Amino acid sequence: MSMKRVGVIGGGQLAWMMADAAKKLGVELVVQTPSPNDPAVPISAKDNVFAAIDDANATAELANRSDVITFENEFVDIEALSKLASQGVCFRPRLEALAPLLDKYHQRCYLRDLGLPVPRFVAIEQDWNTTAEVIFARQIGFPAVLKARRHGYDGQGTFIIKEIESLKQKLELDSTECVVNQSSFLLEEFIPFERELAVIAARSVSGEVCTFPVVETQQEEQVCRRAIAPAYVSSQVAVEIDKIARTLLNSLDAVGVFGIELFLTPDGKVLVNEVAPRTHNSGHFSIDACETSQFEQHLRAVCGMQLGNTTMICPGAVMVNLLGYEISESDYITKRQQIEQIPQAHVHWYGKTESRPGRKLGHVTVLLDTQSRDQAIVIARNIESIWYPHQAC
Ligand code: ADP
Repeated sequence: MSMKRVGVIGGGQLAWMMADAAKKLGVELVVQTPSPNDPAVPISAKDNVFAAIDDANATAELANRSDVITFENEFVDIEALSKLASQGVCFRPRLEALAPLLDKYHQRCYLRDLGLPVPRFVAIEQDWNTTAEVIFARQIGFPAVLKARRHGYDGQGTFIIKEIESLKQKLELDSTECVVNQSSFLLEEFIPFERELAVIAARSVSGEVCTFPVVETQQEEQVCRRAIAPAYVSSQVAVEIDKIARTLLNSLDAVGVFGIELFLTPDGKVLVNEVAPRTHNSGHFSIDACETSQFEQHLRAVCGMQLGNTTMICPGAVMVNLLGYEISESDYITKRQQIEQIPQAHVHWYGKTESRPGRKLGHVTVLLDTQSRDQAIVIARNIESIWYPHQAC
């Protein structure tokens, strides 16, 4: 069956960036999103569903208006959606491919059980102080990384813990502050990585898997600031990452695009940090720098088409996120125009009505004529010096 109308749960920039690909493929988008101001609302059908992402009744409505449902946001209510699936609603990826990934602890267990390399980890339950887990926490050693098991993104809910006392303090503090899932944490070893890497992989309905070039990502305060494509890693590392992606997507029997974040250790080992069952920030470079973008690839997969060619059309590229640094309603047009003056720069502005510190407002991809990590970094610094106030170049 050809899928002409794709229902997307979530109306943020990831849905917005599907628009060009949808047009190209002759597909119509309809979104479920809480606010009419969200980026994807203007580019989708008039009969969008305005409701919270985890509102399964609204998703039932979305299903009435579309041939297949996909996700730009995974913070959904899987149990409630399962009822729709059993009534015949087509989710791609299927819910069973999402379920093991939504809780960071379950995700780690799933990857480990598949034989994929992950940091050593342990779940911290409410009564952790009296259980064997505290012994394990000591074995993991310090610094360690404490992560909220659910609903963390852009480093929210991720804390680097230097010693057992601050771990105790953090957990006690959180239980009195009543944060979401107060008792559900994952503690894992801190990886003194040499680089962080990421790969976007897609799997089609027929089971074909296709990866994009591996990128290097650079985070500041746990938030992605830049991606350099391709990553300057050995072919052995690139092959290993490709294998990890294939193993994972095949095991999940996934359909669609998945983003996989990894650590590369100083001794050349690759560890999986996190898997996102959707298009991912680390793949934005593909819009301007690859034959097929991750967004087109995703729509191809969920619509039952063949996957596209993921080769880069230039020797290299650098993607820089434009993050909010103040509370404002400005559209930052002057800065955007200044950045557009950079040769081979492509500015993508998400059209959000409000800026807040750390919020992803847009991104820039600059195509490079040579493969040079140093040049990519110089260009990224230049963009950041235009964008952020008071930042030394
Ligand atoms: P989120 O889901 O919020 O993006 P991540 O688990 O991806 O959170 O962590 C965000 C960033 O924090 C990573 O990109 C990395 O820079 C750092 N980080 C996370 N886990 C570890 C770890 N085990 N060791 C070292 N750094 C880590």
